[in-house]
Amino acid sequence: MSTHPQPDPGDWAIAIHGGAGAIPRDLPEERKEACLAALRRILASGRRLLADGAAALDVVEAVARLLEDEPMFNAGRGAVFTRDGRHELEASIMDGVTGRCGSVSNLETVRNPVSLARLLMDRTPHVMIAGAGAERFADDMGVERVHNEWFDTPHRREEFERVGGFDPVLQEGSTIGVVARDEAGGLAAATSTGGMNGKMPGRVGDTPIHGAGNWADDGCAVSCTGHGEEFVRHAAALRIATGLGTAGTLSESIHDVLSGMPAEVGGVIAVGTEGPPVLSFTSQGMYRGCADASGRSTVAIWEDMT
Ligand code: ASP
Repeated sequence: MSTHPQPDPGDWAIAIHGGAGAIPRDLPEERKEACLAALRRILASGRRLLADGAAALDVVEAVARLLEDEPMFNAGRGAVFTRDGRHELEASIMDGVTGRCGSVSNLETVRNPVSLARLLMDRTPHVMIAGAGAERFADDMGVERVHNEWFDTPHRREEFERVGGFDPVLQEGSTIGVVARDEAGGLAAATSTGGMNGKMPGRVGDTPIHGAGNWADDGCAVSCTGHGEEFVRHAAALRIATGLGTAGTLSESIHDVLSGMPAEVGGVIAVGTEGPPVLSFTSQGMYRGCADASGRSTVAIWEDMT
């Protein structure tokens, strides 16, 4: 039996992120406005779905697909480059109601990795699949495929050429994530990424690792962004969830975990069984937005934006 308080009926909430990182304050106006507009548009879709009574699991998948398709963010189209100039995508999804989860890694041709992760969860006994086997699973499922170059954008190519592809770096804004609480109180999380700019081919980050970059149970749903290796070392998402028992509130639990990690490591979005979503980061900025049944709806990039 759940030890967490039961939510009020109709008390839905959603948070999204488009990645944390060293997002410069002098971000070109055009890019800033385009990112905020994309966040607003995609958040509105999630809001509508939840207000219409959709299940959190379906909402996080649907909204993550929109974020993957948005070239501003490092997931799906707009993914960063590996050291050898290709794209390798990863994603995960978790249903807090049933505890089921699925994740995919090292994908090169799947347009919406989050949906392949959902299919793995729904249609197979497995929780993670990678590389050639994952591409074969995509063949079997008939999901939409694209050429690897389809994920290219001029912005990511310029970023890649600037760092020379030598040391993997956290780009100025990255990974996407969605957490939601539905009208029935169900929680779910989805996270999707191209990883880190200049990463080694075959590298696996925190995004597809359950409990590191993504987690949902009956107490909270969590999606992380930032330096993946650190989120794996700290089992960040799972520790935020288990920390709820001692920390008291979701924001305290997130603070406890982030403050034990290296400075400027990244950020987290989370939603609990009640109250507004929590969006927290230690990096310079995090593309983000949240909304809930009270009518609140907001998008932001840096700390002092409301
Ligand atoms: N966490 C992602 C990774 O390390 C990157 C990011 O969030 O920007 O693959």
